[in-house]
Amino acid sequence: MKPKIYYSRDEMKELNIKKLNERGVKIEDIAKIAFDQEYKYNKDVKMEQVIESIEKILSLRDVFHLLQLGAEIDRLAEEGQFRGPIQDIIQNDLGVFGIDEIFGLDIARLYGAIGQTNFGDIDVNKPGIVKKLNDDGKPGKPSCHTFLDDIVGAIAAAATTRVSQIYSEETAKNTLHLEEEKSL
Ligand code: MG
Repeated sequence: MKPKIYYSRDEMKELNIKKLNERGVKIEDIAKIAFDQEYKYNKDVKMEQVIESIEKILSLRDVFHLLQLGAEIDRLAEEGQFRGPIQDIIQNDLGVFGIDEIFGLDIARLYGAIGQTNFGDIDVNKPGIVKKLNDDGKPGKPSCHTFLDDIVGAIAAAATTRVSQIYSEETAKNTLHLEEEKSL
């Protein structure tokens, strides 16, 4: 049988949600971070908009590859499956390792400079599920979330950015509409 390597956007979204759930992350956990981040600048933000953005982001091919690979690296490290120094480096979440942040930045980069600064904010302040993943993956704990905390933070940052881009577009259209009305 031919191996399956091509997935539709719906399949990628579903597989990403399944993988996140397997690793202890719910869509609502990510949505809470994005909602709070956007709410600081936009009091009109709605939770449904945030969820819709997260689902859209989870259907992107780059995000699919990064999330699936990152979550598997964490699982393999958890099970002690790597050989050589990389096993302890990943399992103990070495601060200067940085490849996990590259995964996060690569996701956030899909939403430009604002996506990346939003990711930086989440990476430093570790709200909600990002802190839980980080704490649960600390040395001495059985779990490893070295990659997943960055991936989850970046998906939240991307969702914040997508929601604010949609809001900007709607504001622009409404302004245009008002100006048109004025000229009538
Ligand atoms: Mg990390």
